[in-house]
Amino acid sequence: MHVLVVGGGVGGPVLAMALRDRGWDVTVVERTPADGRGSGSWFTVTPNGLSALAAVGALDPVRALGSPTAGNLVLGATGRRLGTIGAGAPLTDGTPALSFRRPELAATLLDLAVRRGVEVVERARVTTASSGPDAATISLDDGTSLSADVVVGADGIQSVVRRAIDPQAPSGRYLGLVNFGGVTVDHADHGLTPGVWTFVFGRRAFFGALPIADGRVVWFANEPRPAVSDHERATTSSDEWRAHLVDLAAADDSPFADLIAVGRLDLAADNTHDLPSVPRWHRGRLGLIGDAIHAPSPSSGQGASMALEDAVIMGDLLDRHADDPASAFSAFDTARRRRVEKIVAMGARSSSAKTPGSMQRVVTEAVMRVVFRFVVTERSQAWVTGYRVEEHLVPTP
Ligand SMILES: Cc1cc2nc3c(=O)[nH]c(=O)nc-3n(C[C@H](O)[C@H](O)[C@H](O)COP(=O)(O)OP(=O)(O)OC[C@H]3O[C@@H](n4cnc5c(N)ncnc54)[C@H](O)[C@@H]3O)c2cc1C
Repeated sequence: MHVLVVGGGVGGPVLAMALRDRGWDVTVVERTPADGRGSGSWFTVTPNGLSALAAVGALDPVRALGSPTAGNLVLGATGRRLGTIGAGAPLTDGTPALSFRRPELAATLLDLAVRRGVEVVERARVTTASSGPDAATISLDDGTSLSADVVVGADGIQSVVRRAIDPQAPSGRYLGLVNFGGVTVDHADHGLTPGVWTFVFGRRAFFGALPIADGRVVWFANEPRPAVSDHERATTSSDEWRAHLVDLAAADDSPFADLIAVGRLDLAADNTHDLPSVPRWHRGRLGLIGDAIHAPSPSSGQGASMALEDAVIMGDLLDRHADDPASAFSAFDTARRRRVEKIVAMGARSSSAKTPGSMQRVVTEAVMRVVFRFVVTERSQAWVTGYRVEEHLVPTP
């Protein structure tokens, strides 16, 4: 059997490995060149996502890239502690959540897949996909096409394969937050706890920072505002955005203004979208995984982990229903939809707590303290981070 995986981001290479390890011929088609994936911010993969990496033997090879992350401390604009959010119980071998630089993790996973015999076609943008009785076909932007038994779109929130499956499929929804991310080196005096994300519900924006193992501090800012236009992005320099963030942070009693002032901006003015529910996940020999079908707000901290879970489950089901991909895709929908849509809804709620109406008027710091004490607890989040992918693979009869 031959599968074409569209997208070599987070989920694509893991699906590629899952099927290659089962003897499939696998081709990953990725629009960016290997040296063009350098930009991007950091994210945390919680133990549920790590269990998916372990299931394809990819956890050990990427472990050294990840910075152990114990959890999240939430503060108010005055520095008052509002609560904590755990990052989930570690894996049985003790591995806690790990924070990665997204492009570094994606590139390493793709390299691993290549070493196992996966073919990668880079600098190739898929323009459309179709399903026939015996094969599925993708068209590339150079005018050529490729065919295989199955095509799986792991092509992110703006998925072309999703549109080929259903031209009426929804697109991403703007969440009212613009995202920035960066790194600060040589600033030992920040007062933050190493290995813990510190989040601040600031007066004008939401901030997060993580001192990682090598002493650098990774940070992000979410500014509630209308989406940044292409014109504004093209006419605003990195230094101007950074100065703007310093100004936003100066309103709070926190280390963020200082941290950002001496830091480097890696991700500038990224409009934040989510994709709550996609009615059709498959058609004929075409299927989808990851952000292409269920992109959560970055506030959920679960997008990468869900894409990784999807990849392992999809690999298992496709191999079990190798003669009938439509049955595999249907079983995947049944297995995954409830969980992933619930997580996207949870992410949207977290996001809305960062918008000004919520921040300044409705959700007072006192209410947040109650929420973090009684509602968002390690126990209440266990269904998210306590999921272990190997427990959800169909047992071999
Ligand atoms: C700022 C930010 C912070 C985040 N924080 C977290 C976090 O803390 N924890 C977490 O779990 N998740 C987080 N996420 C979400 C996470 O990055 C995504 O959910 C995850 O990357 C989805 O994986 P994916 O494989 O589905 O898609 P992606 O990783 O987006 O990969 C899609 C790939 O497809 C390629 N592609 C797209 N279209 C085409 C085409 N037409 N032809 C060929 N190739 C194509 C792209 O170049 C890309 O390489 C965050 C996201 C953002 C933006």
